[in-house]
Amino acid sequence: MPLITANNLVRYYGDHRAVDDISFTLKTGDILGFLGPNGAGKSTTMKMLSGNLAPNEGEININGFDLLDDPKRAKALIGYLPEQPPLYKEMTVDEYLAYCAKLHRIDKNRIIEALELAKTRCGLEESGDRLIGNLSKGYQQRVGIAQAIIHSPEIIILDEPTVGLDPNQIREIRELIIELGKHHGIILCTHILPEVEAVCNRVQIINKGKLVYEADMDDLLDKHSNGFYEITLLRPPSINQLYEIADINNVESINDNTFLVHTSNVNAENIANAAVTNNWGLVKLIPHEHTLEQIFIDLTLGDDKNKEAKS
Ligand code: ADP
Repeated sequence: MPLITANNLVRYYGDHRAVDDISFTLKTGDILGFLGPNGAGKSTTMKMLSGNLAPNEGEININGFDLLDDPKRAKALIGYLPEQPPLYKEMTVDEYLAYCAKLHRIDKNRIIEALELAKTRCGLEESGDRLIGNLSKGYQQRVGIAQAIIHSPEIIILDEPTVGLDPNQIREIRELIIELGKHHGIILCTHILPEVEAVCNRVQIINKGKLVYEADMDDLLDKHSNGFYEITLLRPPSINQLYEIADINNVESINDNTFLVHTSNVNAENIANAAVTNNWGLVKLIPHEHTLEQIFIDLTLGDDKNKEAKS
């Protein structure tokens, strides 16, 4: 059974349909990147999944429990780090985590154990006595993650967890997320593409409230180097002649001089040799990368580009 099954979620703010009929699942072992430009509806979706905002339409099932009908049991399975971490800066790390443990109804006798485990997993072993307000932003974010995992939930939802951190802190938090992904299903909500590439095994793109793309990262990365090459020739032959090159499976013309070819020859030596032998005037031969960035731009900027082109 999936950890999360969300069906046809809709959420309005006034007349504005901020989340527009979204359905997806989160499976055990997933670190799902939930990607979208600002205002796409990511936070609204996360608030609904974590039980902090009711959908206007749709259903959310958390590991067998309906979030709307059985919120206590469903919510017990979720740890949530909102975009603005709910930290009390005048508390020490230990005080705050103990308070969160109580909110999650962890048994009194188990609070210290839960607290130590969460601190260890987030690299906060030495920080228990520190005032949260005196910690660096990276460490405050670790505390935010520690409160999300204090009750050992099956699912962790992290909303923009690295925003405002420096590059070293970002690296540390990403490593922590990968580590947590070994034991939990994770949804990582972000607008940072390299973050998804570095951390996630699945990706979904949301734009204007709608889910517009879904893929396994492995499939996506396969396409990066899956034998697609862009070739530019000064004296291009006919497409039929390009098809005659050994190991060529497909040829598409991009313009008069540039073609997208697919070859089963990994290093494209066949294409380079043919171009030189036939004196086609080889200008460029580069792997054609179908990157997440391209997909993201195509799917989320398309409308704006058209608008600009028309104006
Ligand atoms: P994201 O997290 O992808 O940046 P949000 O879910 O925060 O997007 O917002 C989606 C849309 O809903 C945006 O147009 C935003 O302005 C609007 N919105 C978000 N929260 C509220 C709110 N409390 N009241 C009115 N509109 C909101």
